[in-house]
Amino acid sequence: MESNEKKTCLCGNGEYIVVACSGACDLGQVTDLVARKLRDNKIRKMNCLAAVGADIQPTIEMFKSSNLLLLDGCPVDCGKKILDKAGIEYKYLRLTDLGYVKGLTPVTKEVVETVYDKVAVEY
Ligand code: SF4
Repeated sequence: MESNEKKTCLCGNGEYIVVACSGACDLGQVTDLVARKLRDNKIRKMNCLAAVGADIQPTIEMFKSSNLLLLDGCPVDCGKKILDKAGIEYKYLRLTDLGYVKGLTPVTKEVVETVYDKVAVEY
């Protein structure tokens, strides 16, 4: 028999949470690195967007009662579509809205820090 631990995500939970699209492209990678930096600096707990896609109800309910921030890389809006479909409210940042271009953005420490600084201050 499965334990309860296996039925839910054990990643960070709490009042302030961040999830990222974590896509394969450059901007998706930046969202992931910024989310991890927010976690490492104890600004927000990082949790799993994939858990919503997988319909993991304890995670969905926890997100609904949290101050949730979503980072999407581009206008395909994968994370936005997943959270909207689940009826979850959230704050939102799309990296292309900051002027970054998908496929043409080097994943550098400078880019990650620039996005991180904006998110940490404004969100
Ligand atoms: S939002 Fe854009 S960068 Fe993120 S996973 Fe979807 S297609 Fe990839």
